[in-house]
Amino acid sequence: MSDKTLLKNGIVLTLDKKIGNFHQADVLIEGTKIAAVGPNLKAEGAEVIDASNMIVMPGFIDSHRHVWEGILRNIATDCPLEGDASYLAFILNTLAPVYRPEDAYVGDLVGLYGAIDAGITTILDWSHIQATREHADAVIKALQESGMRAVFAYGYPWWKYPDENQDNWIRDVAKQYFSSKGQLLTFGLASPGPEFIPFESAKSQWELARELDAHITVHVGVGTAGKLGKLEEMGKAGLLKDDTTYIHCTTLNDNELQMIVDTGGTVTLSSPVEMMMGHGMVPIQKFLDRGLRPSLSIDVETNVPNDMFTQMRSVIALQHALLFEKKLVGKSNVPAPLTTRDLLEFATIEGARANGLEDVTGSLTPGKEADIIMLRTDKPNIFPVNDPIGAVVWGMDTSNVDSVFVAGKALKRNGQLLNVDLNRIQKMAYESRDYVVAKSGFKLPEI
Ligand SMILES: [Zn+2]
Repeated sequence: MSDKTLLKNGIVLTLDKKIGNFHQADVLIEGTKIAAVGPNLKAEGAEVIDASNMIVMPGFIDSHRHVWEGILRNIATDCPLEGDASYLAFILNTLAPVYRPEDAYVGDLVGLYGAIDAGITTILDWSHIQATREHADAVIKALQESGMRAVFAYGYPWWKYPDENQDNWIRDVAKQYFSSKGQLLTFGLASPGPEFIPFESAKSQWELARELDAHITVHVGVGTAGKLGKLEEMGKAGLLKDDTTYIHCTTLNDNELQMIVDTGGTVTLSSPVEMMMGHGMVPIQKFLDRGLRPSLSIDVETNVPNDMFTQMRSVIALQHALLFEKKLVGKSNVPAPLTTRDLLEFATIEGARANGLEDVTGSLTPGKEADIIMLRTDKPNIFPVNDPIGAVVWGMDTSNVDSVFVAGKALKRNGQLLNVDLNRIQKMAYESRDYVVAKSGFKLPEI
C-alpha cells in the first residue's frame, strides 16, 4: 500500500504566508508529513481524494482544555466561576475528588473524540485530575487511543494538597512516556499558579517542570484571585520565561501583562468561558496593543461547546463590539478591527506556538506533520463560497467537518469518525457520570 495521499482540487488555505492560499490546489501527504502543496501536483501511486467540494486547511488547535471533564458536559451552564453554587464549588471541590482513574479515562475519551469530530487535531490536555499515579496512566491511555496530537499537561489536584509522592509520580510519568522526542504526545505541566497556591509551591512546581523539559501552562488573572499581583511576584523572582503559556489573564494588572510579553510568554484566551463565568473582561485588546497574538482554547465543556468556530466568533465579535462602541461615542485612536484571517491564525498557528509545536503543525507547510482538515463547501449552510476565510470563520460549524488527518492518518472521513466504537464510549460515559454524581452527592440541574 502506498503511503502517499493526494488531496486534489480543493480550496487550500495553507496559512503559511510564504506559500499563500489557493482557490484550487492539491496537498500531497507522504507518510506522516506534508510533502507538497500547489496546483496540479503529480504523485504516482498516491491514493487520490477528491477535495473539489472542500476547503483544505490545517487542523484547529485547542491550547487548553480540562479534558477529563468530558463526562460533565453542560452540567454547570448556569454556574459562574466563583461563589457558593459555582464551577469551583461543584466541579473542582465536589465532583473532581471522587473521580477514579477510569472516570478520567472516559472523560478524556469523550472530550477527545468530540474534539476530533469538530476538526481539532492538537489539544493541550490540562489534566489536573491526578489524585493517584494511576490517573496519569488512564488519561495517557485515552490520549494514545484517540490518535490526536496532544500535550499531556500533568496537573496537581486543586481540591487538596498534593500527595507527598506527587513530584516523584511526575518524574516517573516523564520517564515512562516522554523520554523520546517527536511523538504525538508531548509533556507539559499544568500549574495552578501563584494565585491559588503559596508562592514557594508554585515556584517549586515550575522548577520541576523545567528540570523535566515540560512546557508550563498556568491559570493567571482569574477572577478575584487574579487581582492580587501574584504573577508580578513570580516575574520579579525571575521565574517568567518563554516556555510558559498564560491562561485567561483577565484580571492581571498592566505590569503583569507586559512581563508576559517581555519574557516571550504565550497566551491562550477562552473568551466564551471568560465572558459567561465571570473571569473578567477578555484581555484581547490589551495583548494586541502590546504586539502579542493569542491562541484560543475551549477550557471547560461543563459550560461551553467544544468547537473552535465558537471560539473564533466569540473573540472577533467581542473585539469589534468594544472598538465600534468607542467609535460611536466619538473616541479617537480606536484600534483596528481584527480580521477573519487573524482569527484563523489564532485558532491554528498561534495554538501551535503556544503548545511549543510551531515547527511541527499549525500550517500546511511542506515538511510539517500532516495535521489537516477538509471542510465541506457543498452544504446548504455555506455555498456559494465567496470568501473562503470568511466562510470558515463566520459561516461554518462542525457539520462542515468532513475529514480529519493527524500525522497523515485519517481519524475522520466522509463526516464519520474512524476506528472508534461510539456506542461503547457513550455507555461508559453514562456509567462514569452516574458514578461520580452519586458518589459526590451532586444534584444534576432541574429541568
Ligand atoms: Zn482552564
